[in-house]
Amino acid sequence: MKRVLTSDVIKYPGKKIKAQGWVHSIRFHGKIIFADLRDKGGILQLVFGPQNKALYKLSKELKSEWVISVIGEIKNRPKNMINSKIETGKVELLVEELEILSKAKTMPFPVDSPGYEINEEKRLKYRYLDLRRERMRKNMQVRQEVIKFMRDFLQERGFLEIETPMLTKATPEGARDFLVPSRLEPGKFYALPQSPQQYKQILMVSGIEKYFQIARCLRDEDPRADRQAEFTQLDIEMSFIEREDILSLVEELTVSLIKKLFPEKKIAKTPFPRLSYKKVMEKYNSDKPDLRKNKKDANELAFAFIVDFPLFKWKKGEKRWDSMHHPFTTPVEENIEKIKAKPGKILSHQYDFVLNGVEIGGGSIRIHKPELLEAIFEILGHKKQEIREKFGHLLEAFEYGVPPHGGIAPGIDRFLASILGEPNIREVIAFPKTGENKGLMMGTPAEVSKDQLKELHLKVEKSHRKK
Ligand code: ASP
Repeated sequence: MKRVLTSDVIKYPGKKIKAQGWVHSIRFHGKIIFADLRDKGGILQLVFGPQNKALYKLSKELKSEWVISVIGEIKNRPKNMINSKIETGKVELLVEELEILSKAKTMPFPVDSPGYEINEEKRLKYRYLDLRRERMRKNMQVRQEVIKFMRDFLQERGFLEIETPMLTKATPEGARDFLVPSRLEPGKFYALPQSPQQYKQILMVSGIEKYFQIARCLRDEDPRADRQAEFTQLDIEMSFIEREDILSLVEELTVSLIKKLFPEKKIAKTPFPRLSYKKVMEKYNSDKPDLRKNKKDANELAFAFIVDFPLFKWKKGEKRWDSMHHPFTTPVEENIEKIKAKPGKILSHQYDFVLNGVEIGGGSIRIHKPELLEAIFEILGHKKQEIREKFGHLLEAFEYGVPPHGGIAPGIDRFLASILGEPNIREVIAFPKTGENKGLMMGTPAEVSKDQLKELHLKVEKSHRKK
């Protein structure tokens, strides 16, 4: 017999069907045993009566989270037993056959609640159980719907989705790179991408013109509560455009996405305010101001674009200029001598995307003149030869006809967490790491065997070796 999902059983009144899933809960009511069966579709009430002795005996053994298979008739519930809270609340399955497919140990925590009260490390260690809870399943579902919407929206507008390499070269985007040793070329390393920044710009040289990617980004940053070493962003790049083209594209995408998927939400203001960095710093002392009228209203979404950022910020500790965004951002002033004379005064074509006081994305119009890019790298403290070694590929690509271009990358995790009202981005990621970058379920990072190290020509310093 073919299995029917619990969400479909209402289509089978009076019919015999097979259902399979987890025992969500059990209740004994005199001689009758009720069990809720849970599968990906939802919950279905099972009824076991004492008529069939063998079946009844077996059903008495059932425990929470066992995996079972049942066959029986779908019956309408008596009127006073209707449960309007669940989709299948009008019916129940009168069990005629029961098979136990697998037993479960006592659970480390319950999965029938939203689970916020449970110790998070425990939830992450047993993430496979934590993901059984309805809230987490819904978050995964919404995540997929949001990504699908973004994909469809951009593809309909002529964007091409292109995957870029995970094994790449260090990119200067402000964070530390994760390095991967090369086995075939001892002493050399790949870097995991902090973002596809250089690839997407190179794709503009290739004439792609409209690129996007649901991109994984990896940054080895110091522990911070709401940061993840791995995260996902909607990476976009376009050619022959101006700042407003990118901002209005992102605005249209956002507004239509919210209308379709989150109709209960209210967008505070459209068009999204475009506010200068200078103005928001003066007024709110923050470059990600919370513009909500009523900060207690969970349904209010106040989006804004912050524009006209300074090109550089002064790094006190290192006594040098650093990019406010990244070195590929084009300055408003393109005269190299003027930039060198007063780096701190130069504005850039960077823009940030802000929602309810959280930065949910950033981007810029890029430098497409190789000599200007080289000059910026010099101001950032790179030596000429180093520039050629590190960025030669980009500078060279720009010598073969590069269109003016720009892009943006809204963070998908952060957007989802904000819109779902989740307290942090771990709640919208299936297998997140802790603030200290540990994967508690798999036990990462982990030691590797001596042979693996040998193959890679690596040695771990004595003081760090496992005792
Ligand atoms: N690569 C940038 C980032 O990840 C986004 C961009 O400039 O498009 O923040």
